[in-house]
Amino acid sequence: MNDNLQQDYEPPLREELSSIEVVLGTSSTEEKPFGKTEIPVSDFTVINPLASIFREKFFPDATDRQWNSWRWQIQNSYTSFKKLSEILDLNNLVDFDFLTKSRKLPLRITPYYASLFHNKENDYAIAKSVIPSRLELVVSPGEEADPLHEEDMCPVPNLVHRYPDRVLMLSTGFCSVYCRYCTRSHMVAKDKKHYGVKAWETSIEYIRSNPKVRDVVISGGDPLTMPDKHLEFLLSSLRSIPHVEIIRIGTKVPMVMPQRITNTLVKMLKKYHPLYMSIHSVHPDEITPEVAEACNRIANAGIVMGSQTVLLKGVNDSVETMKELMHKLLKLRIRPYYIYQCDPIPGSSHFRTPVAKGLEIIQGLRGHTSGYAIPHYVIDAPGGGGKIPLLPEYYQGRDGDYVVMKNFEGKIFKYYDPEK
Ligand code: SF4
Repeated sequence: MNDNLQQDYEPPLREELSSIEVVLGTSSTEEKPFGKTEIPVSDFTVINPLASIFREKFFPDATDRQWNSWRWQIQNSYTSFKKLSEILDLNNLVDFDFLTKSRKLPLRITPYYASLFHNKENDYAIAKSVIPSRLELVVSPGEEADPLHEEDMCPVPNLVHRYPDRVLMLSTGFCSVYCRYCTRSHMVAKDKKHYGVKAWETSIEYIRSNPKVRDVVISGGDPLTMPDKHLEFLLSSLRSIPHVEIIRIGTKVPMVMPQRITNTLVKMLKKYHPLYMSIHSVHPDEITPEVAEACNRIANAGIVMGSQTVLLKGVNDSVETMKELMHKLLKLRIRPYYIYQCDPIPGSSHFRTPVAKGLEIIQGLRGHTSGYAIPHYVIDAPGGGGKIPLLPEYYQGRDGDYVVMKNFEGKIFKYYDPEK
């Protein structure tokens, strides 16, 4: 790599720098986050009426330009219980001092995402998925920090090679919102895990020297929290490798900080087709005019979107909620892709449903809505076994030359399939 490029693209990775500096792409500790008047003009202009009311109440000085800037959203995120208590009654979080000091996954919620649950009940679904709870202090049997053993499958740092033809590249440790059930909570939000060009180069060289790798997933943390030029460096490097056929970006940003999806970003992204985006979404209430605009831009750029949803007790564990979410995603041109059983990270048992609940949800969708609206329900096998799909028992076995099947109404049918 030429030296100028190295300098230009080198994100600040040293421990003394804060996450915000990493995300803002500052290249030295002398550069400060943007001041009020320095926020660049964004080409994102959608603000739904409820978000407007929220902004007037809690950020009365914020202009449209600031609110619509993803950098402003990150700078003004809720990162402390004190600030969060301005919008929510947190009295039930009796141990929040302890939680703050326990070095668990930090708190981070964008003002935009907070506007979705302000004025709702305290157990409101999406709030639960991002607000720390004292229940996180309860560690249950079977839980471990890295349940998928991803760290054992890293041939080089920050690159997981679990399947022969595809790899998962952990590009950053930062997210715009920290989900309390995150599989990678052992590594996100740690300063030492804010990666950059030097770390990426090792991964890129590994991919370049492994011709079997045809599919690269860029994940994290959340890659869309990186500045455009960092992302473009990564995409162009991967695209220069002839055997990399497809690139996928795993992100929650379109749902929690849709302002990030600027026309400038998608114009850059579409240079690196075929490009896919796996979008993390948990609840139908996330689908707002802002999210619709963001997804419209992504789809119009020819980027194929699929969804990933974690099944969470008290958040989305009903057929009705999941069906509504899948329908709304389809309308945004996002193909429902996976429902995950919640991984056993420490302190996550309050989110985990019995496996029977996941099967019940699939059964409640199959035959009752379009096939396109039905994702795969999978368990990411603890210990690194990969994703294993689970299906209700449609296949009932054999009866001589017939396969016996049960349909979505529970009726039995036979299909002629001679055994030679
Ligand atoms: S956005 Fe993804 S990586 Fe970040 S905390 Fe949520 S689940 Fe984890």
